[in-house]
Amino acid sequence: MNDLTLIDSASVAMPEPFVGRHLIDGAWTDSAETFQRHSPAHGTLVSTSAKGGVTETEAAIAAARRAFDTSGWAETSGKYRATLLLKVADLIDARREEIAVMEVLESGKPISQSRAEIEGAADLWRYAASLARTIHGDSHNSLGPDMLGVVLRDPIGVVSMITPWNFPFLIVSQKLPFALAAGCTAVVKPSEMTPSTTVMLGEMLIEAGLPKGVVNIVLGFGDPVGALMSAHDSVDMVSFTGSTGVGKRIAAAASGTLKKLSFELGGKNPQVIFPDADLDAAADAITFGIYFNAGECCNSGSRIIVHEDVAEALTNKIVALSRKVPFGDPLHPDTQVGAIISPEHQAKIAGYVRDAQSGGAKVALGGQALTLDGLPGQFYGPTVVTGVTPDMPIARDEVFGPVLAVLTFRDFDEAIQLANGATYGLSAGVWSTNMHTCLQFARKVQAGTVWTNTWMDGFPEMPFGGVKQSGQGRELGRYGLEEFTELKTLTMRVTPGRDNWVKG
Ligand code: NAD
Repeated sequence: MNDLTLIDSASVAMPEPFVGRHLIDGAWTDSAETFQRHSPAHGTLVSTSAKGGVTETEAAIAAARRAFDTSGWAETSGKYRATLLLKVADLIDARREEIAVMEVLESGKPISQSRAEIEGAADLWRYAASLARTIHGDSHNSLGPDMLGVVLRDPIGVVSMITPWNFPFLIVSQKLPFALAAGCTAVVKPSEMTPSTTVMLGEMLIEAGLPKGVVNIVLGFGDPVGALMSAHDSVDMVSFTGSTGVGKRIAAAASGTLKKLSFELGGKNPQVIFPDADLDAAADAITFGIYFNAGECCNSGSRIIVHEDVAEALTNKIVALSRKVPFGDPLHPDTQVGAIISPEHQAKIAGYVRDAQSGGAKVALGGQALTLDGLPGQFYGPTVVTGVTPDMPIARDEVFGPVLAVLTFRDFDEAIQLANGATYGLSAGVWSTNMHTCLQFARKVQAGTVWTNTWMDGFPEMPFGGVKQSGQGRELGRYGLEEFTELKTLTMRVTPGRDNWVKG
């Protein structure tokens, strides 16, 4: 592994450990117990957070319910809500560096990426502000001379938002501004691994003038906080991003009240490379797709399905590029891949690689932990596994690490069969210079997002979500706002003289 670029000297200052409290009904609230987060790269204490339980969760849900039912928030104008969201966006910009550094320290992601994510998050608040002034329903003027139909869009109510650790600030920004634009109120629970930037967001919401109780934040664990947020009868919707396994538990907990569920879950995202593809462009995008966020990404391009005629050439290019990717201290501005979130997760990644090897696959690069001078945390080296067959766990499961699985195909039908062979359906990609091949693939592949001759480009305007066990519902775009609304049908008689039902 000597020929990898390893960067070991940090050039961004470590802040003091952050103290996180709940935000309940406009007040910062402590709990008797706390929990700590240490940097997965540096081992240092990063934050101490109040550990919420049933009492704090009940109080937060009650505050959100009151704010929705009686505070007048839901009836405010789109202009009012848009103005507030724009203020939050400006505050995010003003605190970008502070938020970015905290994300690095709690999640292990590199600072350059983190800065870009916070910049992107501010853009989401601005985009949602633009949508707040466009909410509208429909009208039906063709129901006959006596009748007029109007379809209203109402905010759905109190929304529980439960977020993961891999993109803490970005993911809460894919949900919260859209729900607020719609007129909803919320209870937010960030991951116990990365709670602090959501607390910073709470500070900015207060500074921007958000009325008390409209957004409440409870810090803590899935059990009991997330479970109660999912089951509670005062909650109208759960918006969850996380693993498919926890999504199923939330669906079970929510079934007692049949509340609306919006799920952004895992993925095992295939890219199919045809022989006529630009192999250099594909190799670079595949390298990006597998190492971005250390592979701890729902959209990770974790398996490629490459035509057997070009498999060796493409794999060689990917391995050569992989050796050049700077793994290292996530605080260093040149680092592109940082630490793995926890020792347990690192062991899980290593287990998948070992299992594939024992099943007959070959490790073309990596397959082992990285030791970086002066950094006690866990890092996993860039890894390319070839000779993978569709039955192997590494081909089917979300490894969530910097580990690429390489499968091969002979014809279009086999490529589609392999691509659609997973239980997931989040995103997929196709590489070919023939537009017909790309379009045919896009039509047949089971995925919420399809990229042709590119990978992982996203825009606030473009909806995002999964099919099959990758989720339900969509975030972003106008659909991202509509998720947080409910339709109300208004049927009006507009002339006197309705025919009586009771005759005589
Ligand atoms: P996770 O499912 O373990 O945890 C996510 C959140 O759920 C955390 O806040 C956790 O505390 C909470 N939780 C745990 N148990 C719960 C329960 N019983 N009830 C309610 N809440 C509970 O996921 P993670 O490890 O934090 O994140 C990684 C996963 O997230 C991966 O599977 C990844 O693919 C997925 N993800 C999906 C998207 C997407 O947009 N599709 C984006 C990012 C991450």
